[in-house]
Amino acid sequence: MSQFVKPCVALYDCVPVEGNHPAYILYTSGTTGQPKGVVRPTGGHLVALNWTMKNIFNVDPGEVFWAASDVGWVVGHSYIAYAPLIHGNTSVVFEGKPVGTPDAGTFWRVIEDHQVRSFFTAPTAFRAIKREDPKGEFVKKYDLSCLRVLYLAGERADPDTIHWAQDQLKVPVVDHWWQTETGWPITAIPMGLERMPVKIGSSGVPMPGYDVQILDEAGHPLGPDTLGAVAVKLPLPPGTLPTLWNAEDRFRKSYLEHFPGYYETGDAGYMDEDGYLYIMARTDDVINVAGHRLSTGGMEEVLSNHPDVAECAVIGVADALKGNLPLGFICLTKGVNRPHEEITRECVAMIRDQIGPVAAFKLACVVDRLPKTRSGKILRATMVKIANGEDFKMPATIDDPAILDEIADALKDLGYPVTQQGMTIG
Ligand code: AMP
Repeated sequence: MSQFVKPCVALYDCVPVEGNHPAYILYTSGTTGQPKGVVRPTGGHLVALNWTMKNIFNVDPGEVFWAASDVGWVVGHSYIAYAPLIHGNTSVVFEGKPVGTPDAGTFWRVIEDHQVRSFFTAPTAFRAIKREDPKGEFVKKYDLSCLRVLYLAGERADPDTIHWAQDQLKVPVVDHWWQTETGWPITAIPMGLERMPVKIGSSGVPMPGYDVQILDEAGHPLGPDTLGAVAVKLPLPPGTLPTLWNAEDRFRKSYLEHFPGYYETGDAGYMDEDGYLYIMARTDDVINVAGHRLSTGGMEEVLSNHPDVAECAVIGVADALKGNLPLGFICLTKGVNRPHEEITRECVAMIRDQIGPVAAFKLACVVDRLPKTRSGKILRATMVKIANGEDFKMPATIDDPAILDEIADALKDLGYPVTQQGMTIG
């Protein structure tokens, strides 16, 4: 146990409950509209979480584990609270941000002070740090030899961010993929069970109990390296959602009806020959450009490789001719002061070279910030609605609504939304 933590004395006796008793109800981050109340069954949740601590996160009882998340989100529930406690780990509870509280070295300071063995956070935190401290000056100030692995989840970890994290921290970086609905990783690299090779860009292989399949629109399984809907063959393993709170019909409609016999994750991706999964976008964010289905995540991956780009988002805007056209928003690394047109021109050329003219990527703009949920997910669906001039509901979980106005201004400069006559609205 860390020197900072004293054991506490339980004030109440334990209350026995049935395995299916709801431990909690947690609302999803709601990037696509109305949040859903996910019910968590107690017994399965504890069994699954306990298994993950050694087999995925590779910590033994007594070691220090840190999930730098908000305790109100699923990562916080599962990996700040319940999993470390049931497995006998010390859990770091941290209030602050990766930058500005007080600087971009906060994470490294906490890791050194508490001798953290395994560290889990979201790629957005790393992008924020990399933007402030691209050369890793703050990393060098701390002794991080205690750290064994960095775990990233919550959104797509672009290869550029992973490379930066690996170079700076000198530990393996494990991207793993899961959802509020599942409560624990669907795919990962089981570092405590078998050190399978990490493939950068992939969120790992399915964990026990998850039969992950890639399906076409009609629900037929697709072969390797083909983009499709990511689904999990029923039944789901212990700990995953049995229903939505007071909304059994919505549960069935949202997850079980589209692909009978499967749980629909809402994510799009592909699997390689070795069974490694690559999550590329939400299915809603796959765009159709003149009949070609393209993932916005693939385009974001290319843009993130530009040396001046700290973070980015690509959305598909409606186009009378091609169906959708991709449009990129780019945030620049601190200290970059080259003309924006020069940078966006280079970005357009990179996508043309690496994905091809078929992407028809010609629209890009520089913005200061991207609109996100409080858990750090980019609100692409809302940005699409603004670009298309459609009505939208303010997402309940938005971090800073003012950023949507900044996005609307940037879109206006690009001529969006477009009216029937080709004029900008508003
Ligand atoms: P939430 O339920 O709020 O945790 O959001 C879950 C969603 O976040 C998933 O369905 C994915 O769209 C996204 N997500 C989580 N982890 C990853 C990951 N490692 N790679 C790509 N997307 C991810």
